[in-house]
Amino acid sequence: MDAVLFDLDGTLCVYRRPGDEVLNAAFDAVGIDRFFEVADYYERYGDLAADADGPTELRELAFEAIATERGRPASLGRRLARAYAERRDHAAVDPLPGVPEVVRALRRETSVGLVTNGGPAVQRDKLAALGLTDAFGVEVFAGHPNDHENWGVVAAKPDPEPFRVALDRLGVPPERAAHVGNAPAADVVGAARAGLTTVLVGGDDAGDGPAPDHAVDSVAGLAPGASPLD
Ligand SMILES: [Mg+2]
Repeated sequence: MDAVLFDLDGTLCVYRRPGDEVLNAAFDAVGIDRFFEVADYYERYGDLAADADGPTELRELAFEAIATERGRPASLGRRLARAYAERRDHAAVDPLPGVPEVVRALRRETSVGLVTNGGPAVQRDKLAALGLTDAFGVEVFAGHPNDHENWGVVAAKPDPEPFRVALDRLGVPPERAAHVGNAPAADVVGAARAGLTTVLVGGDDAGDGPAPDHAVDSVAGLAPGASPLD
């Protein structure tokens, strides 16, 4: 392989405080009974990402939409979104096994890139916490306005665009590249559409989508010398 691309959330790191817990704290802060689940919020992420100017606005739009749908005022959704934002620390992430060592080891042998469905500010806080600032030859913040290069908003995974943008930048054709991610619907489907070799991390069921080319328990399974990509 001449390039290996990585997803971020659930592939390289996880939040120390689960979203579910942050949402509970937000409802407590606003002083009302919980009327939606964190999964309801995550489900809207893909649809709203391109309309929002950053993660804070995206969460507001999502919470407003959910509130309205359930007969509550939109303003309540906004208050909850603000309470959530005040309680979510993006630097409070834990690395998953193999991070950051395997990314650094791969970087000595091949190009590495990041393709994440998250905004630049938030995702860079996580990269810094993981010791991966400047580790990647390219960073694509899919579904969000990229604040570097002249890319503007790149479509969110599973659109093939973010993978193509990353590989263009690295100068590597898709048949010489792999993408590593934990979400069958976003990572495996998207990377397969773009023509990359796909590696599913963490054992999530591929569902109805295409089977990944390779599956590993964690990024640790991609250490050079013992990797299905060797
Ligand atoms: Mg992920």
